[in-house]
Amino acid sequence: MSTVPAYKRILLKLSGEALMGSLDYGISSDVMMQLAHEIQTVSQAGVEVAVVVGGGNIFRGEGLAKGGIDRVTGDQMGMLATVMNALAIQDAIERIGLNARVMSAIRINQVCEDFIRRRAVRHLEKGRIVVFAAGTGNPFFTTDSAAALRATEIEADLVLKATKVDGIYTADPKKDPEAMRFSELSYDEVLSRRLAVMDQTAILLCRDHRIPLRVYNMTSPGELLKIVQGATDVGTLVH
Ligand code: UDP
Repeated sequence: MSTVPAYKRILLKLSGEALMGSLDYGISSDVMMQLAHEIQTVSQAGVEVAVVVGGGNIFRGEGLAKGGIDRVTGDQMGMLATVMNALAIQDAIERIGLNARVMSAIRINQVCEDFIRRRAVRHLEKGRIVVFAAGTGNPFFTTDSAAALRATEIEADLVLKATKVDGIYTADPKKDPEAMRFSELSYDEVLSRRLAVMDQTAILLCRDHRIPLRVYNMTSPGELLKIVQGATDVGTLVH
């Protein structure tokens, strides 16, 4: 396999739940450090890395609304939860000696930078890891949509969706032993088969802007590096 990376700039989408590891709530320091090391290997291979993180390990607007909180307020709480996760990722990355910048879609200047596209691109060009926080900054959206939006804005070559399974299956592999993994799918197939990969807004944005997506298992060390080096047998490619 070639050691020249196959991608110049990637966007990694991490759900809030992915940060919990085996915890019921919050952020696992083991997961954080593993993640930071994975990002480091990819960055050292010469790939520019941007991250979009979710907030589902802390708050989701939909869940809060079920408990009676106004939906928009709940979504704002969800977006603020992503800022906390982003700060934790920045901290883990900087602890191992890389530079990272959190950029938020909601202005919260004492804590992190505002999202300014040109500045984000400059950070990436300088080898800094950019962690996009607060989703799109708007209620009723998800951080999957934010990932597709930011990937489009920064002209990422690939979106990576980190999950706990090694790709997209015909059915839930934990429930159905017959479930088969797809190695490749088109965006239209994802939509027509109603596969729960990312929400439809995100899928449409990636499809319309021709940004490929690879779903992979973040708990398996070294997968991220293999993908950026051009491996085609890791996870599922959607394009
Ligand atoms: N959210 C939002 N607008 C956005 C992105 C996120 O309002 O553009 C809120 C929404 O309430 C969502 C929460 O933030 O439930 C956390 O994001 P998400 O559910 O996407 O996190 P994940 O499932 O990836 O952990």
